[in-house]
Amino acid sequence: MSLTQTMILNYTSQVDQIGMKDFYKTLNCKICNKKGNIIFQKNYDDRDLTKFFETYYGLKKYKFFKNRLKNVCYSLIKCENCKFIWQKNSPKEKLSFDLYDKIIDKNESLIKSKKKFSLRKHKNKCEIDFVINQFQGNQINFLDFGAGWGHWLNSGENRKYYPYALEMSKYRQKYISKLGIDIIDYKNLGKYKNFFHFIRMDQVVEHVDEFRDIFILIKKLAKKDCIFYLSVPDGEDIIKDTSKIRIEKGAVQPLEHLNCFSRYSLLKALRLEGFKKISFFEILVMHIKNLFKGGVSVSLFLRDIKDCFYSTSIKFRIR
Ligand SMILES: [Zn+2]
Repeated sequence: MSLTQTMILNYTSQVDQIGMKDFYKTLNCKICNKKGNIIFQKNYDDRDLTKFFETYYGLKKYKFFKNRLKNVCYSLIKCENCKFIWQKNSPKEKLSFDLYDKIIDKNESLIKSKKKFSLRKHKNKCEIDFVINQFQGNQINFLDFGAGWGHWLNSGENRKYYPYALEMSKYRQKYISKLGIDIIDYKNLGKYKNFFHFIRMDQVVEHVDEFRDIFILIKKLAKKDCIFYLSVPDGEDIIKDTSKIRIEKGAVQPLEHLNCFSRYSLLKALRLEGFKKISFFEILVMHIKNLFKGGVSVSLFLRDIKDCFYSTSIKFRIR
C-alpha cells in the first residue's frame, strides 16, 4: 500500500466516526419549501448500494470513499405539490469535488464524450448556427455552464461566436483551454454581467444542490433576449410511480443526481425565478429567421417543437 493510499484510508477512517460530516441534509422542498415525504431509504452500506458503487466506480475507487458514507442514508424525498424528488443527504463540496475530480474515471469519461462528439458534431453545429442567426452583430457570446470536456462549444465554426466555459473539474478545465475556449473563474463572474447571448446547461442541474442560486446567477449573466437552454434527465416515470425506483444510473442515481425533475417541476422552479419558456409561436419565428439566414435543420425544428410541449429539455428567453 502506498503512502498516499494509507493517508487516504486514515483520513476516511477519521471521517467515518463522525458520519454525516460530508453531507448536507435537506428536508424541505427546494422549489416550494414545504416539507416532503420520504419515499425510499437505504443505508449506504446496504448491499444494493455497495454493489452499485463497486460496479459503477470500480472496487478500488469505491474503497477510498466508502468510509465517508458510513452512518449515512440514501434517502429520497418527494414533494407531492411540485412533483419533485430530491436526495435528502447531499455531498458537501469536498466530497463532491473528490467524486467528480478523483473518483469518476476521467479517461473513460473523455472517451465517451469524444465518441458522442464525433456522432453529433453536425447536429451541434446546427444548434450553434441557429443561435447565432437569432442575433445581429458578430460578437455573440456563448456560455456552456458545466461544459464537461467542452465538445459542444467546440462544434461550431471559429470566429462566428465566442465560446466560454464554466467547469468545476480542473482536469476538464485544462482540456477545454487547449481547445481555445475561455474558462471562466467562478470568482470572476462579476465581469460577465449582462454578457451572454446564449447560456446552455445540459445535464447539470440534477447534480447541483442549490439550483435556485444558479438560476439567479444565470439571469445576471444573461443579456436581454438571451436564450437559455436547460436540459435534465426526465424523472416523470418514477415521480408518477415510486415503486419503479431502482439503485442504478438514472434520474435518482445515488450521490450524483441530487434532484429529479418532471417537466412540471422543472417549469415550476424556473417560473418562480421569473423565467419564461419560449412559446410555440416564438419557436416558429426563430426557425423562420434561421431559414432566412441560410440555416436549415429539420431535425432541430422537430426537436424544438417536441421540447416545447413534452420534454425536460426546455428553451427559455430572458427578457
Ligand atoms: Zn415543492
